[in-house]
Amino acid sequence: MKTLVFGSCNLDYTYQVPRIVSSGETLPVRAVSLNPGGKGVNQSVALKKAGLDVWFAGCRGADGAALTAVLRENGVDTSFLRTVDTPSGAAYIQVTDTGENAILLYHGANYAVTRAQIDETLAAFEPGDLLVMQNEISELDYLIEEGCRRGLRLVLNPSPFEENMRAIDYSRLFLVFINEVEFAGLAAGRDLDAFINDMRASCPDTRWVITLGGEGSLYFDKEVFLRQPAFPVNAVDTTCAGDTFTGFFTAALTRGEELGTCLRQASAASAVTVSRVGAAGVIPTKEEMMERLNE
Ligand code: ADP
Repeated sequence: MKTLVFGSCNLDYTYQVPRIVSSGETLPVRAVSLNPGGKGVNQSVALKKAGLDVWFAGCRGADGAALTAVLRENGVDTSFLRTVDTPSGAAYIQVTDTGENAILLYHGANYAVTRAQIDETLAAFEPGDLLVMQNEISELDYLIEEGCRRGLRLVLNPSPFEENMRAIDYSRLFLVFINEVEFAGLAAGRDLDAFINDMRASCPDTRWVITLGGEGSLYFDKEVFLRQPAFPVNAVDTTCAGDTFTGFFTAALTRGEELGTCLRQASAASAVTVSRVGAAGVIPTKEEMMERLNE
């Protein structure tokens, strides 16, 4: 079984600032760092570290060599990562000493994904392979449509949550990862318990994971409802928490582990990620996850 992540890659520029800049103001920056990121890259690294064979597909600009490099260093196949004429997607992140942040997001090359690239890429995969997606590239609806038609098992993280995520047919998905804020967005003001029950009835073949930050996570499908507390940890940086969870839960599920084990392994892995400062580089290996699990 192959795992294809068709998703975003971003250059994340982080600026340490005394406070978030206001309109018309110029502020000095204390330090700048550049990290390869984007949910597609982070989830690819997590899926690979969790033990799957991973291919990344998407688009980057000529400025995005670091994006290809981080994927390759982590053992992710990049033959379907295109270099296009638009600059790479980028996030410009202001962070204050108190942890407050403000982010500008440039879609850039992530929105250069075309139907032709999707057709060509999916042709290299087979029914039963996993197709992992987020809401950060162009032609997502077509990707879901084609992935479904070709019999791939669809995994969606509807993040960042925007209006277009309400129009998705969730009953076609194998697995959905969503955080509580995004899930509330999807429910659009409806009572959450009632909405969960609606989803169980209308999407009988879909497995749902709702992550609740330091409060843990929930799993439900047509028959099962499970709750998993977070592993206690000194959380210093929650970047990649959800992406780590996605990678380790998906890998455990496709290995045939019981649902409770999938939740525990994903939680242990995410606890390691939040205990370290950084992005994809801090996602634990499967061995590190097992160590945390057995502590
Ligand atoms: P996202 O990054 O997508 O918003 P969450 O913040 O919900 O995702 O975090 C995903 C998972 O990471 C949680 O379900 C939990 O297992 C773990 N996690 C997040 N924050 C903490 C924390 N403070 N302590 C321990 N585990 C955490």
